[in-house]
Amino acid sequence: MQRETVSSVAGILVCQAGCVLEKLDDSLDKHNLMMPFDLGAKGSCHIGGNVSTNAGGIRLLRYGSLHGSVLGVEAVSVKSFVIVTCYTHGAFGVCC
Ligand SMILES: Cc1cc2nc3c(=O)[nH]c(=O)nc-3n(C[C@H](O)[C@H](O)[C@H](O)COP(=O)(O)OP(=O)(O)OC[C@H]3O[C@@H](n4cnc5c(N)ncnc54)[C@H](O)[C@@H]3O)c2cc1C
Repeated sequence: MQRETVSSVAGILVCQAGCVLEKLDDSLDKHNLMMPFDLGAKGSCHIGGNVSTNAGGIRLLRYGSLHGSVLGVEAVSVKSFVIVTCYTHGAFGVCC
């Protein structure tokens, strides 16, 4: 299961890499928010792949590069080091 949380006040989405772009956009729509990019592949591509490829699409000119919208990433290296570029622990109600 891929989890996500939305802070509608701050306009911040915290999600796992395997979330499908279209599902994230649908979730944000309930908060009157939207993803800053849109692609023909949105029904099947994942946010992890989108960030990895710095995907553009039809909202690029208005909202800029996707990397500019990413506040932080939590990743695990091949040597099992956890790399955190933004504090997101507890975002899913889990204390790590
Ligand atoms: C119909 C269609 C229309 C498209 N239109 C556009 C467009 O208008 N503009 C545009 O910019 N792009 C477009 N694309 C390309 C699209 O941006 C990329 O295919 C998409 O962002 C990649 O996401 P994915 O889930 O398919 O990733 P994948 O193809 O699964 O992965 C892409 C890369 O990211 C890496 N990756 C995936 N997940 C992770 C992770 N969790 N951590 C680290 N690395 C990871 C993979 O190893 C791989 O190298 C389109 C693609 C399609 C099929």
